[in-house]
Amino acid sequence: MVDIYEREIDYIRISITDRCNLRCVYCMPEEKIECLSDNEVLSYEEIIYLCEVFSKLGISKVKITGGEPLVRNDLSYLVKNIKEIDNINNVTLTTNGILLEEQIDSLVRSGLDAVNISIDTLDEFTYKNITRIGDIKKVIRGIDKALEYENLLVKLNCVMINEINDKQILELVEMIRNKDLSIRFIELMPIGVGKQRKGVSENEIRKVIEKKFGKLNQFNESLGNGPSCYYSLDKFKGKIGFISAVSHKFCDKCNRIRLTSSGFLKTCLQYDKGIDLKKLISEGKSQEELIESIKNAIYNKPIENKFFEIYSHENFEQHIMSEIGG
Ligand code: SAM
Ligand code: SF4
Repeated sequence: MVDIYEREIDYIRISITDRCNLRCVYCMPEEKIECLSDNEVLSYEEIIYLCEVFSKLGISKVKITGGEPLVRNDLSYLVKNIKEIDNINNVTLTTNGILLEEQIDSLVRSGLDAVNISIDTLDEFTYKNITRIGDIKKVIRGIDKALEYENLLVKLNCVMINEINDKQILELVEMIRNKDLSIRFIELMPIGVGKQRKGVSENEIRKVIEKKFGKLNQFNESLGNGPSCYYSLDKFKGKIGFISAVSHKFCDKCNRIRLTSSGFLKTCLQYDKGIDLKKLISEGKSQEELIESIKNAIYNKPIENKFFEIYSHENFEQHIMSEIGG
């Protein structure tokens, strides 16, 4: 369906858990955080039911995210059931890759179309610094295994952080020289603990890449569900994408909504506006009533983010990224 600003909304990101096996410095605090209890999190049956409802409103692409989605049991069951819904033709996953090697086979057999793997550095020490606890070797094995599946689109997500991994851009780009793999540089967003860090802008990253490898050529084919822009480099097999929500706002092309693990439908990443769908289901609302509420929320999706404005504005999102799903 289209919203009040005539944007076609056809993509939903669903966070299936707020738990994670890592503690990335720009996403989660180091100290123990309170996670939702099992009955506060949407069950797989509730997620599948809501996907059926969303599909009736024109949502055709579903991204499964978290927290870390692979820490939840039997994710393949969820993928298979979402994929079977009429009109949903694309089911993808964003993961930190730690558990990917052992799960990718059943996920692909269940119909997974693409996987985005977050890896902000190739250096073991820096990886520990960023994730606080992660073992990068597991992620690399997960990436290599994912690349064995011919029909699976594989992309890497990299967040560059000032004075942590900002000198490692070229090593990351080298990853795509001989591999059918895209790399996307995601600008650090001032959400949750991300407000305490300084990111590296798209322009700064482009400059570093072009100085070493030559001109980035615009690549016009779409490689994903969102508004990221892709480029090719001479002599490199893979493509480079930028997701620059801060420096190159793409709100006018935004096609997405988000469902948190507690069942809250968010229509913009930055605002806490939306509706508590888990509550509506528990109150016994009919499918027609749910459709009406969702329609109304999507129609009134905010026009744009305001990352440059005062971060503590009362309507702005106060949750951390692992609770929202990125
Ligand atoms: N755990 C999975 C992962 O790391 O891919 C999925 C959830 S994570 C919240 C989804 C994406 O959001 C990751 O690529 C992560 O790097 C990104 N992310 C987290 N916090 C961010 C922030 N403050 N700014 C930009 N991207 C962020
Ligand atoms: Fe976990 Fe992903 Fe957040 Fe890192 S970015 S703490 S892996 S949810």
